[in-house]
Amino acid sequence: MRHHLITTAFLWVFLAATAAAAPQTRNVVLITLDGVRTQEMFGGLDEIIAAHSAIQPYSEIETIRSRFMGATPETRREALMPVMWKELVPRGVIFGNRDHGSVMRVENPHCFSAPGYTEMLTGAPRKEVTSNDIRRYPYITAPEVLARNLQLPFGAVAQIGSWDGFASAAASRDGRILTTGGFDALPPRLSTPAIDQLVALRKDVLGLWEEGSEDVLSFRIAEAYLGAQRPRFLWIGLGNSDDWAHADRYDRLLVYLNRADRLIGELWASIQSSEHYRDRTTLVVTTDHGRGIKGKDWSEHDCSIPGSEFIWALVLGPDTPAVGEASNTPELHQGQIAATLLQYFRIPSSALGPLARPALPDTLIETTAP
Ligand SMILES: [Zn+2]
Repeated sequence: MRHHLITTAFLWVFLAATAAAAPQTRNVVLITLDGVRTQEMFGGLDEIIAAHSAIQPYSEIETIRSRFMGATPETRREALMPVMWKELVPRGVIFGNRDHGSVMRVENPHCFSAPGYTEMLTGAPRKEVTSNDIRRYPYITAPEVLARNLQLPFGAVAQIGSWDGFASAAASRDGRILTTGGFDALPPRLSTPAIDQLVALRKDVLGLWEEGSEDVLSFRIAEAYLGAQRPRFLWIGLGNSDDWAHADRYDRLLVYLNRADRLIGELWASIQSSEHYRDRTTLVVTTDHGRGIKGKDWSEHDCSIPGSEFIWALVLGPDTPAVGEASNTPELHQGQIAATLLQYFRIPSSALGPLARPALPDTLIETTAP
């Protein structure tokens, strides 16, 4: 009996310590902005590309420059993405500013979308992914691991975005998590009349290119889904940054980034004003690849174009210390995003297989060791 009491007391101490150490995060929202360069993220308007834009037909860069100019990278990026730089980064951590000794890059040899999203979500570059074809690959993704390990019902882990490639990159097979292509409706039992209306509108809006739909509508669909279904994990895949860049419209890209920044701010504000999500939700914002660094090649990207390999990532939430801009980090890789997403649920990177990269450094600080 005495022995039993001691055991029980020990158990209580152990449980209390474990509880104190458990991550506060219960939900994760991942937002990806396709093909957004470190130059704009860390330096705002880039005069090299602006000068190129000024001699392009239809460019409104002179008007746009007056909105987003500034004497230093810090003032330019705050003008372009005020929410990111004044509200989010100071409360979290952003990796990838090479001027501060933080290099983050893709490891896949392609530097375009499907290889990037696969690397990001499966934890490592996968050599079979050599095109942007819409198809699944046999590698379990972090969202799938989450749904499986936590035994979550269908819909509690979800992907919503503007391109069919997001749906194929999100999962190795159908049925485990909710994936939706760029123009797809949501399954009726997970939808609402408001979501259906947005989906119908998204189908009608003619995008810049054939493959993708309008980000603002995808974003609103995702936001409505978050409110209606309260998923534990949601990936919002946005693509219009890449669309405007491929169209060689730097002026439009800058306006787009400013708008995306506002949307991300609205989402974070609504998360933090929700009883359900407040202080229990981690936000990760990142990109799939960079782009060229010269006027003549910035609109394109592949690993033969220097600059295309560089990426960045913001992590913000109750378990991430407020570091701001990370400096002097080891070289970081895109595959580290997957384990970063899983760590808040105490799932090790090995759940993604032996090749999976570790989580990004110092993105989960536990107060007490278990
Ligand atoms: Zn891309």
